[in-house]
Amino acid sequence: GSVVADFEVKDMIGKGGFGQVYVASHVSSEKEKVALKYIIKHRQDRYLNIDGHSRPMLAEVAIMLRLMKAPQCPNIIRLHDWIENESDCTLILEYPESCQTLDRYITDTLDMNENKARRLMRQLVQAVRFCVERGVFHGDIHARNILVTTPRLELKLIDFGCAWPVTRMPFYSWKYQGARCYTPPEILRHPKFFPSMANIWAIGILLYEIMHGRLPFYDRQSIMVGDLHLNPTLSSACQDLISKCLIRNPVRRILLHQVEEHQWFNATSPNAV
Ligand code: ADP
Ligand code: MG
Ligand code: MG
Repeated sequence: GSVVADFEVKDMIGKGGFGQVYVASHVSSEKEKVALKYIIKHRQDRYLNIDGHSRPMLAEVAIMLRLMKAPQCPNIIRLHDWIENESDCTLILEYPESCQTLDRYITDTLDMNENKARRLMRQLVQAVRFCVERGVFHGDIHARNILVTTPRLELKLIDFGCAWPVTRMPFYSWKYQGARCYTPPEILRHPKFFPSMANIWAIGILLYEIMHGRLPFYDRQSIMVGDLHLNPTLSSACQDLISKCLIRNPVRRILLHQVEEHQWFNATSPNAV
C-alpha cells in the first residue's frame, strides 16, 4: 500500500459518507498499528476556535484534543496526531488490538448475558461521564461508533465527527445529526432541541440492543409512540434501567448520575440470560 507520514496503509476498515478509515502500521517500528481516518473537507464542515488554539480547527480534531489532555479516559479512542491541508485531513488514531465494532460483537456473540453487558455499559457510561466533565457532547452514540476488544471486552468510544463543546451548542445553528434509530423523540420533533438528554436515550437503545440482538425502534413512528418490547427473562433491574433511559419525555428521563448509581450496575448475581 501507500505510505502516509511513516505509516504503511493496509486494509480499509470503514467507509463513511465523506471519507474512509484504514488500518496502517508504523514503518520504522513495524509493529504499532494505527487507524487512519481520512476526511475530505467540505464547505459545511464545522471549525471551532476553542481551548486557546491559535486558529479555528476542524471540530472533530478540536474536540478530540480536548479529550486527550491528561488525565485521559481509557474508554475514548486516542488521537495520536493529524495531518491537514486545504482539501483533506487525516486523523492518526489508536487502533485497539483485536477489536471490532459493537454491532459486529453483538451479532457474533451467541452467549450474551447481563454480566458481559454490564462490563460494556460500565465503560460506555464512563466514557460519557468523561465527555460531560470535559464539556463535550458526543452526539452520535451508536453501535458502529463503539469498538470492543476481545476477549478482554474493553470498550472504546470513537467518531467525534458530530460532537460539540456543550458551552457553544445554544449559540451555533446546531443540528443533531446522530444515527436515526438512536435519536430520541424530542430531537425528531425539534432538531435544534438542546440535546443533553440524547446520550441517555442512546445508552438505553444500546443496552436494549446488546440484550436483544436488535433495536427497539426502527422508524420515526415507533420512536415516537411504539411499545417497548422487553425480553421478560431479563432481570428486573435490567428492564428497569432500559425503560428509564427510554422515557420519551426528556425531563422525566433518568439522569447520567442515576444511570451510574442504578442497581443493575451493582447486581452481583443477575439472572443471566
Ligand atoms: P464516520 O464519521 O464516517 O462514521 P468513523 O470514525 O465512525 O467514521 O469510522 C468509520 C468506521 O471505521 C467505524 O465504524 C469503525 O468500523 C472503523 N474505525 C474508525 N476508527 C477506528 C479505530 N480507531 N480503530 C478501529 N476501527 C476504526
Ligand atoms: Mg461513525
Ligand atoms: Mg461520524
